[in-house]
Amino acid sequence: MPVAHFMAQANAHYYATRDPLGAAGDFTTAPEISQMFGELVGLWLADLWLRAEAPARVHYVELGPGRGTLAADALRAMRAARLEPDIHLVETSAALRAKQAERLPDAHWHDGIETLPETGPLLIVANEFFDALPIRQIVRTSDGWRERVVIQGSDGFVAAPGPLPMDAAVPEALWSAAEGAIFESSPASTAIAADIAARIADQGGAAILIDYGYSGPAIGETLQAVKRHEYADPFAEPGERDLTAHVDFAALAEEGRGAGLRVFGPATQGDWLHGLGLAARATALVKAAPERAGEIAAARDRLANPAQMGQLFKALAFVAPDWPEPEGF
Ligand code: SAH
Repeated sequence: MPVAHFMAQANAHYYATRDPLGAAGDFTTAPEISQMFGELVGLWLADLWLRAEAPARVHYVELGPGRGTLAADALRAMRAARLEPDIHLVETSAALRAKQAERLPDAHWHDGIETLPETGPLLIVANEFFDALPIRQIVRTSDGWRERVVIQGSDGFVAAPGPLPMDAAVPEALWSAAEGAIFESSPASTAIAADIAARIADQGGAAILIDYGYSGPAIGETLQAVKRHEYADPFAEPGERDLTAHVDFAALAEEGRGAGLRVFGPATQGDWLHGLGLAARATALVKAAPERAGEIAAARDRLANPAQMGQLFKALAFVAPDWPEPEGF
C-alpha cells in the first residue's frame, strides 16, 4: 500500500489505543512542558478577538488536542481577558477524548471539521496535529517518479517504489533531483487547511498552526517513528509507534491565501513566544513560586531556545480578512 495509507492506518490504531504523551509515554509536546505555552496561545487569540471587536459568542476549536492541556491553559488565559468561548475539539481517538473530558467536561467533540458550528467566529488552534497526518512520498527512480509503497520484505515491511508513474505530481523545479530522491506532500493536511481557511473566510476568526516543519516544495525524507522518546524504524510494528513527518508550511499558507485570508509567518516558535512575552510570563511565575525557578527556566529554554524547540518548530497564522494584524509576527 502507498506510504500515505500505511501512515494513516498505523496512526489511527496508535492514537486509538493509548495516551502517548509525557515522560512515561512516547513523546512530549510543548503544552506538556509548561503552562506558559497554552497561556500565550490563549492570550494571542484573546488579543486578536478584542481588537477585532468581534461578537462575544465565538468558538474555541482545537484540532488533535491530546490531553486537553493546551486548551485548559489557553481557556484560562482567555477568561482572564473576558473571553469565554464555547469549546469544540476535533479528535478521532476515543482514548484521548476520555482524557480531554476530564479537563474540559463542557466541550463538544467532532470527528472532522465539517460538523463545527456554521455561525460565529472560529478561534482555531492546532499544535503537533498536522505532523501526524499522512504524507505521500514520491521517489525518483531510473524510470521517473513513482509513489513510494510499503511491501512485505523478507524481514518485515519495507518501502519500495510502486508501479505507477507520478511525474505529474512533482513540481517542475524538482525534476532534476538525483535517483533515490524523495518528494513529500500531505494532501490530507492541505485539505484540512483549505477547510478551516474557508470557514474563517466565511465566519470570521483566526487559526494558529504550530508544528515542526519547513517551507517547501523540497526534496527530503522526513517520515519518522518515535517510541519511548527514541527514533525507531517507521515501517516496523505498525500501529505501535508514533509516525510523523515534517509539515510543509508553504503548502498550508497557500490554502489560507487561496481562501482570501491574511496569512502570517511561519515564524519560529522561539521568536513567536518571545514576541508574545514569554520572558515576562516566566518572571511572573517565578515570582509566585520561587522554589520552581529552575524548572520554569528549563521549560522556557526548551520551548524557545533555537537549539531545542525554538527554531525547528514554527507558527503560522490565518486571520479573517477584516480582522486585525496578529501579535508575534
Ligand atoms: N496537540 C496535542 C497532541 C498532539 S498528538 C499536544 O500538543 O500535546 C496528535 C493529536 O492529534 C492527538 O490528539 C491525536 O489523537 C490527534 N489526531 C491524529 N490524527 C487525527 C485525525 N486524523 N483527526 C483528528 N485528530 C487526530
